[in-house]
Amino acid sequence: MKVLTEEYEQHNFYEEDKFLQKILKKYMTSDMFSYADKNLREFGQRAAGPIDERAVHTDREGQPRLERYDKYGEEVSRVWVNEGYKQTVKETYETGIVGYVHKNIPELGEKGTYTYSFAQGYLLSQAEPGFYCPVTLTMATAYLLDHYGGEELKETYLPHVLATGDMELYEGATFLTERQGGSDVGANVVEAVSIGEDYYLYGEKYFASNAGMCGVAMVLARMEDSKEGSRGLSLFLVPWEGGNIRIRRLKDKLGVRAVPSAEVEFTGAKAYLVGEADRGFYYMMEALNLSRICNAVASLGIMRRSYTEALLYADGRNAFGRRLAGFPMIQQTLQELRMKLEKETAAVFEMVQLYEKVTNGTASFEEEALNRLLIAIMKKETAEKSIEFAHEAIEMHGGNGYIEDFVTPRLLRDAQVLTVWEGTANILALELLRLINKYEAHTLFIKMLREKSTDGMEKRIDGMEERLLRFAGLEETEKELEAKSLMKDMAILFEDVIYEQL
Ligand SMILES: Cc1cc2nc3c(=O)[nH]c(=O)nc-3n(C[C@H](O)[C@H](O)[C@H](O)COP(=O)(O)OP(=O)(O)OC[C@H]3O[C@@H](n4cnc5c(N)ncnc54)[C@H](O)[C@@H]3O)c2cc1C
Repeated sequence: MKVLTEEYEQHNFYEEDKFLQKILKKYMTSDMFSYADKNLREFGQRAAGPIDERAVHTDREGQPRLERYDKYGEEVSRVWVNEGYKQTVKETYETGIVGYVHKNIPELGEKGTYTYSFAQGYLLSQAEPGFYCPVTLTMATAYLLDHYGGEELKETYLPHVLATGDMELYEGATFLTERQGGSDVGANVVEAVSIGEDYYLYGEKYFASNAGMCGVAMVLARMEDSKEGSRGLSLFLVPWEGGNIRIRRLKDKLGVRAVPSAEVEFTGAKAYLVGEADRGFYYMMEALNLSRICNAVASLGIMRRSYTEALLYADGRNAFGRRLAGFPMIQQTLQELRMKLEKETAAVFEMVQLYEKVTNGTASFEEEALNRLLIAIMKKETAEKSIEFAHEAIEMHGGNGYIEDFVTPRLLRDAQVLTVWEGTANILALELLRLINKYEAHTLFIKMLREKSTDGMEKRIDGMEERLLRFAGLEETEKELEAKSLMKDMAILFEDVIYEQL
């Protein structure tokens, strides 16, 4: 049997992925593509080599640790991370994975695109999906600051959030979830107390990823006398070094161990209002759409790694005197994985094109609603599939697949969170209902499918139209009960339509 790990060190996640290259070529201008192609080649090699190696260490022995007190007994709430992880952080941000979405790429004299950033995220997630969480949080922070921050706030913090090695990096964070509710953000009680022009936060956030590592956190809090529910939430930027933030503990997690996820207590932390008061929830929901795309991209990364690991193993392992890859059932599994992976990759990057329009302000109101719908169905489908792919990769390896010497157990552990954070399947189903009830997004979905489809798809689209119209007329409870299976079928049809026209 071949020694798979040694072989892997020579791999390049980008160079070997002809399908990704095809997709990027389709969606990028030729200048952008030549730049991306060159840089992704480098990053693809780094991700398959040192970043992957460091990720193993971080997951096993090098997990983040909380240093609650210093040697004099003073409370410091610092988070320790290993040196390899720090190197991965440095190298990844220097590629412009966050920065170049908002600022010019010096070589090109123009801004990069989300498409390029997500291609980087896809490669990164094949090695270190845990760290793609802080990258996602930094992207969300950059989005919020860039779109809604006042001039002074932007001037002070945005260049650091967008740093590409040119200045000190401030990673971001987004703190919404409290003990009484993550899905139900309107139940948030963290308080913003104003003294003169200044704000100070008090209260606890129960899941706060990148705590201790971030330079700034974007936090939802309630001002005194604000309305109840989500309409009374404002968005604040909190500089981590501003003090009066205590980390109670780091969560002991099943996977994504690279990212420190903490319980955080604000004890009068200095905070700066972002945008208009009481609009925080709406701003955060916009950022959540971005994070959901990142979630889909991370899912694709895990799917791709699971597929390549399964393929390599099947190629190197013998059973009953034959290579595994020669058995019909093995071939069938690999073929099914490859097809689904390609379809989902195509569908996600197609969705990203609409997102580019939404974020550069050229999308119509209808396109914005359609974009939200696609994000909801694709976040759900890709997250669920990433778990299935990791499971298949384990099975392909037989007993070895279950052993931590191989990457397969980590893939499954890391995939498992993707169905939870950034909105569970039920919460995404409620988003579908909202979009159908309020914006008739189902009709926009059908219209888009008809525009993009080839002739052979007509019958299936007719069938989906009929189903969606019937669904839109159901009672709310009936809708809720059918929504998730409907979303799955919508995702599959969307994927097939996009794949057909490639
Ligand atoms: C590793 C990790 C890191 C995280 N990092 C962050 C972070 O950095 N910042 C942050 O803000 N949050 C973070 N979270 C929190 C995460 O976003 C929430 O866990 C998630 O939104 C679910 O909220 P909850 O845990 O309160 O579950 P709940 O909201 O209590 O949900 C429990 C179950 O009930 C279901 N449910 C809830 N409401 C309904 C309904 N109306 N109809 C049907 N079903 C419903 C849900 O789908 C879920 O299955 C993190 C979570 C994890 C696991």
